[in-house]
Amino acid sequence: MTRLRSSEEGPSVGGQARRSPDEPASLGAAGATAFDAIHPPDPALIDKCVHCGFCLPSCPTYVLWGEEMDSPRGRIYLMKAALEGRTEMTPAFVSHFDACLGCMGCVTSCPSGVQYAPLIEATRAQIERRHPRSLADRLFRGAIFALFPFPGRLRIALMPLAIWQMATGRNREDRKERGAEKNVPLRSQRAPRFLPGVAALFARVRAALSLAPEVTWASLFSSIPARTPAVGAPRLTVGLLTGCVQRLVFPRVNEATVNVLSAEGCDVLAPPGQGCCGALALHAGRRDEARAFARRTIEVFERAGVERIAVNAAGCGSSMKEYGQLLADDPAWAARAVAFSARVRDVTEIVSELGAPRAARHPLTLRVAYHDACHLAHAQGVRQPPRDLLRSIPGVEILPFAEQEICCGSAGIYNLVEPETARELGDRKAGHIDAVNPDVIATANPGCTLQMRAAAARLGRSRRIRHPIEILDASIRNVDLQ
Ligand code: SF4
Ligand code: SF4
Repeated sequence: MTRLRSSEEGPSVGGQARRSPDEPASLGAAGATAFDAIHPPDPALIDKCVHCGFCLPSCPTYVLWGEEMDSPRGRIYLMKAALEGRTEMTPAFVSHFDACLGCMGCVTSCPSGVQYAPLIEATRAQIERRHPRSLADRLFRGAIFALFPFPGRLRIALMPLAIWQMATGRNREDRKERGAEKNVPLRSQRAPRFLPGVAALFARVRAALSLAPEVTWASLFSSIPARTPAVGAPRLTVGLLTGCVQRLVFPRVNEATVNVLSAEGCDVLAPPGQGCCGALALHAGRRDEARAFARRTIEVFERAGVERIAVNAAGCGSSMKEYGQLLADDPAWAARAVAFSARVRDVTEIVSELGAPRAARHPLTLRVAYHDACHLAHAQGVRQPPRDLLRSIPGVEILPFAEQEICCGSAGIYNLVEPETARELGDRKAGHIDAVNPDVIATANPGCTLQMRAAAARLGRSRRIRHPIEILDASIRNVDLQ
């Protein structure tokens, strides 16, 4: 989508883009306000920001553009201005929040403990309710949210892709060889210049095609047993979130999760009836949808009676750990949500919590570039468990590379709705990883996997990208990593 730069906004919000947040400013007509009274960002959280700017170098959009209003500090300043009625919800105001990846890099680097997640989620909810988007934008976003959180619909939508890939034998390797994804600007010259909305839609569709996963009939119809018993005496009963994209596109990750947890002494349940956890909706400001998905997820796992809920997709885990906040004002669900969130763990955290390994690790000679998914490292603070898991495998070497804290540009639906910025960040990440030439890239989020696969293909590389749990599974089963 075309971003309004500061200079296009005139003297209100955009006029402040290069101004220090400490300077007094008139951001809009007196009395005008961008936010209404329904769950606006919490002023107490905003006031924790002391404008120190330590977060700026960790913010991908500030790193790319150097614009104050596209930094965490600038965005928090805009929220405050909106709360105080000093700005309206102009297109430029919205563009600064649309450009935010929600990566939470700023949370990690903030010495004052500013909780940016509830701030951006509340702001996005206001934008979704109050900002009239173009018809093309609404249709595109509507299609995403009518499809991705519903595995049944997504399966049907992916069937033509699976048939086409099987019929033609075409996959990303072919695309790499044809160079089809290299050096083609997303804002295609072929799109009519007099129809900017169409050009933006064209760019989004092109981005979606470049990110298209490799799917097979088997992957679309694979399933996980409802109960897999522990090997040996049970140590823990774990419920597995099978995910929406994960179960259809990366079913091997779910299989590996079950294999490893079972081998380590867990009874693993995959409760039937589970659907979307609401992560995409929550991160996009669709609060009511997110709350409905959260209630259903809580109900399903309560019925299963598990001690832990294992998640192998970082974005999902981060949202499920937030259910307590998401449902805090719902008397019927608040306590259940808190109890549920307390049981949610990334699968690497569960492996770490189990302590001394029960299953033998067999050697795998692999140089691994471990990419921190933002919603695991920044949002959940989970950095060490995946690294420990990999280091427990004899022969695995973890390679450091540049800018590990910076987002790869995937960020939920970001690489679909902000394709140019996402592509720039993806290319940057792929370049840094390429510099260390790993045997395999490891990451714990399906969105990151698709994003980095597309970026590697543009570089002319066909990289193996695997979840850390797949690598551990191969080690335990004493087979080569596929
Ligand atoms: S969430 Fe990420 S993109 Fe958004 S302000 Fe924070 S660091 Fe920047
Ligand atoms: S580091 Fe924290 S306190 Fe400092 S400007 Fe950024 S958000 Fe505000």
